[in-house]
Amino acid sequence: MERGEKHSEGGAEAGVERGCGSGHGYYGNIYRRSVMKATSKARLAALILSDAQRFASLKQEIVQLDYFCKGTVLKRMMKCGHKQCACHRDPAKRHGPYLECTYKVHNKTINLKLYPEVAPLYRAAIQQYRKLKSLLGRLERLSRTALAHRAKQVQSKRTN
Ligand SMILES: [Zn+2]
Repeated sequence: MERGEKHSEGGAEAGVERGCGSGHGYYGNIYRRSVMKATSKARLAALILSDAQRFASLKQEIVQLDYFCKGTVLKRMMKCGHKQCACHRDPAKRHGPYLECTYKVHNKTINLKLYPEVAPLYRAAIQQYRKLKSLLGRLERLSRTALAHRAKQVQSKRTN
């Protein structure tokens, strides 16, 4: 009777502690493996340290990025405004090449005309954008790995 009452008023908090007690067999298995765990713990700590170092150095690469622009630089041959000009009849006689930087903003394609001396500026910015995307991808993959390592460490502390 009395025990039953305690059970019901214990609530969620007490339930967690009781769960620990009733699972002795399971936790006992983990303790038996504690010698093996000592080495894997050191290995885990080393992995966590190297994760942090790699993350910091990738972050540093992001900090060093210059202006970036999504898009591509294209060379385009153009027709002029004079209807009598040969460019209107013969595609080979079109004018150019003219350089354009093409990118999308809110699903709208923007064609930015570039003077030849300006093109390197945009080519460099496009390179920076690609670098940023690649760094973000690497940071994300590294984060997933690092989080898994950290989670393992937190979990291992739980059983101590
Ligand atoms: Zn023309």
